[in-house]
Amino acid sequence: MRNPLRYTIASKLFLPIAILVFSSISFIYFVWIPNYVEFTISALTAQIDKTILSVSEGIIPLVLENKLSAVYATLDIVLKDNPRWIDLQLHDSQGRSIYPLIPSQISDPSFEKRVISREINTGGANLGMISVIYDFSKLIKDVQSQSYELFSVISFLIVVFALAIGLLLQFLIVRPVNHLKNASDALAGGNYEVKLPRPTRDEIGHLVRSFDAMRNQIKFVQDELLEASTQAKAASETKSAFLANMSHEIRTPMNGILGLADVLIEEAETPELRESLEIIRRSSSRLLNLLNEVLDISKIEAGTFRIKLETADIVKVCSDQVTLFQAAAAAKNVDLSFSVNDAPACVRIDPVRVQQILSNLISNAIKFTSDGFVRVTLTVERSSEEPRLIISVKDSGIGISEEDHDKVFLEFIQVGRSQTGSNKGTGLGLAICRKVVDLMGGTIKLQSQLGHGSEFVVKLPFKREVHGISHEPESPSHRYTSVSRGIESHRLHVLLVDDDEINRSFGQKMLHHLGVERVDVLETGEKVVEMLENETYDLIFMDCQMPVVNGFEATQRVREMEERNSLLRTPIIAITAKAMAGDREKCMEAGMDGYMVKPIRRKEVIRILEKFGNGKGAGT
Ligand code: ADP
Repeated sequence: MRNPLRYTIASKLFLPIAILVFSSISFIYFVWIPNYVEFTISALTAQIDKTILSVSEGIIPLVLENKLSAVYATLDIVLKDNPRWIDLQLHDSQGRSIYPLIPSQISDPSFEKRVISREINTGGANLGMISVIYDFSKLIKDVQSQSYELFSVISFLIVVFALAIGLLLQFLIVRPVNHLKNASDALAGGNYEVKLPRPTRDEIGHLVRSFDAMRNQIKFVQDELLEASTQAKAASETKSAFLANMSHEIRTPMNGILGLADVLIEEAETPELRESLEIIRRSSSRLLNLLNEVLDISKIEAGTFRIKLETADIVKVCSDQVTLFQAAAAAKNVDLSFSVNDAPACVRIDPVRVQQILSNLISNAIKFTSDGFVRVTLTVERSSEEPRLIISVKDSGIGISEEDHDKVFLEFIQVGRSQTGSNKGTGLGLAICRKVVDLMGGTIKLQSQLGHGSEFVVKLPFKREVHGISHEPESPSHRYTSVSRGIESHRLHVLLVDDDEINRSFGQKMLHHLGVERVDVLETGEKVVEMLENETYDLIFMDCQMPVVNGFEATQRVREMEERNSLLRTPIIAITAKAMAGDREKCMEAGMDGYMVKPIRRKEVIRILEKFGNGKGAGT
């Protein structure tokens, strides 16, 4: 049965009113009317009894004198005078009938036909009994019909009264309460302009006023929050923009330092010079790592850090990363191994982020281990509903005390420095790892004891890919100049557009060094189209942020010119100092074919030349 508390107010009010109406009408019909009829009958009976008394007093002398004919005549007259009397009978003290002469059988008394009798006594002696049979049917009928009329009127009045009360309650309580209920629903749905019932002077009016005050308060707080969130968003955007600019500003000179160091190391003639240049490169690399970590943390906090799922060979992703650290491990006499246990070949995951996590964990493991081992294992957890990759990095290094287990995942926290005496690192690596793992929907756990090595276990949800690795589709309409012309490596012609002089000079040097025959340079995107009208290039490296005409606009102009003149498409590779989310998409939208983030690394340039220079333009 439905809980009565859940009925609406209207139905809760209707029920008692209906019960009241029903019981009042039933009372009148079943109790009051029969009682009234009985009361009327009793009154009439008393009246008849009185008449019988006076008749009996009149006939007593006649009976005593035995004047029976006079008794008969008197009783005949009495009977005649009372037409409603069905019968009048007189019996002597022995019960013998005196009047009428031929005694009639008294028909069975009923509710309507009743016998009213009275003894005739004189001087203490009983002379007999006089009885009247009276027909009450007319009286009953009359009384009943009057009562029913009255009943109808009273019932009508009760119903009207009940309706009036119902309407009054509806108008005074139910309607405003319903109105208030709808208003609160609308408010809960975020509509603060909803109209409230007119406040009356009663309790409901008080409720309406309180509700209105509450609404204003909520609106006020919401406005404040909105304002604060807009300000926070603006501040965050400013911060992101500042970071992007700062990254541009720092990466541009870093580009020059790292790139030139690369080139100079190749050309260094003495080991001492090469060693010094290596130090420059390593220091710049650390500076760049630091910059990247700070940028990552900022991007995660600003909510612009994106996880990009793609189909990847997870075993290769991990083993490549392990291979990168083999030299560093060997230098510390650490045995770095990688083993796979039942891992799927292709999964949908963000491989770059997996490598970022792995790189952090492996470099830490090597950093805090000497003469020991670092074991990286890849398995799949199948027990849970959603399969998860388990990547474990275990080392036999210095370990971490129990009390520091949570601390190591906090930003800028480094523990156990006294054991290592090392203060390399920022204390950001594990904090970033945990945040990235969180964003990927996974978990990272640490098991370690001081002096007994550490194990970091990362669990990441993934989707199995049945179709294998899908390589980036190349639009068939993109017929590249280099491909069509089958250019020889030493004959590659490249255009480098960059507003920064250091970048231009180092870029030219590196490209020449990699075997590119001719490298033309431009300071701005303004003249790119003009150059292309006079010269054919196999590849263009285009800086994105340039004064006058930036890289995006210059690329669009090139694509339009090619379209107009039905020329083959020249591959354009974007060079950007920003590492913010959406940059890559922006470059592709502008019509670029590839994307490199400053500082430009030799390996990356080789990859680009191999891809767009028909595989012959690099590595020389
Ligand atoms: P850092 O860049 O300083 O290494 P991390 O966030 O990567 O910053 O690590 C935080 C701290 O956690 C480190 O400074 C070190 O004290 C501790 N730590 C991390 N990994 C290990 C490990 N494998 N063995 C021992 N200590 C570790």
